[in-house]
Amino acid sequence: QAKEAGRNSFRFFEAALDAGSMRSLTLESAIGEALERREFSLVYQPLIDTRSQAPLAVEALLRWHSPRHGSIPPDHFIPLLEENGRIGDVARWALREALRQVRTLQEAGHPRLRLAFNLSGRQFRDPGLVQDIRAALDDTGFDPRLLDLELTEHTLTDNPEAAAAALRALRQLGVRLSLDDFGTGYSSIALLAHFPLHSLKIDRSFIQHMERDQQAAIIVRSSAGLARNLGLEVIAEGVENLAQLALLQELGCHLIQGQVLARPLAADELGRALAPA
Ligand code: C2E
Ligand code: MG
Ligand code: MG
Ligand code: MG
Repeated sequence: QAKEAGRNSFRFFEAALDAGSMRSLTLESAIGEALERREFSLVYQPLIDTRSQAPLAVEALLRWHSPRHGSIPPDHFIPLLEENGRIGDVARWALREALRQVRTLQEAGHPRLRLAFNLSGRQFRDPGLVQDIRAALDDTGFDPRLLDLELTEHTLTDNPEAAAAALRALRQLGVRLSLDDFGTGYSSIALLAHFPLHSLKIDRSFIQHMERDQQAAIIVRSSAGLARNLGLEVIAEGVENLAQLALLQELGCHLIQGQVLARPLAADELGRALAPA
């Protein structure tokens, strides 16, 4: 009898959850252990100088492979880590891993290779951030001038005054700062000039549509012009074909990142790809 009731109440519980929320509940519990189970890894996507064609930087991109759920994209699992409060632990691990791996590449003959590393909103607001980054730089012997921290517009425009102060503190470390996914938020020209940034990355949604969509083309053109006039390095992300590449070169983009040139690679693959022929 008890068994029967148990089964019924389970069925009732299951019916109350749709398949989607059931899946995210189990994902949430799986990700709680993912760091300890070594299920995270990093891949690196080269950023290529449009003039010299040389890879100047690589962006570290986090990957989660769960034995139970397969590969989950970061746009999906980073918000879960932000909610369950584990983003700090994962990010501290990821930064050290990336600094170590890129330092190895620098020592193997690419001494000026930059590392671009994404900071989430919650990480950016963590009062221990500057100290964590300083310790990671010191422990790995990584030149701070070769670390490029990427922040999204959403992260910075949430509280622009606090953000500007936090950016100044980060700059004291000697690192570079980039505005990622530019065009998807609401930053004004005044705000852009106010933030102590080095680079601006035009969001891939505009790059992808700029050949056919006049509006997207205007946004790419004016963002590139604005960034150049503010003295910022201009980066285009998500560049998928040669027509986009040519157009972006013409617009004066300094760096190009996208499938047309290189997909994200594991550290050892990257080492082979970068090795002089
Ligand atoms: P993002 O920082 O804007 O990273 C660029 C994204 O564009 C990456 O997606 C990359 O794989 C993708 N991409 C590159 N080239 C192309 C292309 O030619 N076409 C298309 N369609 N996509 C391209 P990914 O790896 O899925 O990462 C998505 C987002 O997740 C990142 O966007 C970033 O916001 C976040 N993320 C990834 N790794 C980390 C991390 O370690 N920490 C934090 N806080 N966020 C991360
Ligand atoms: Mg990024
Ligand atoms: Mg981006
Ligand atoms: Mg993004």
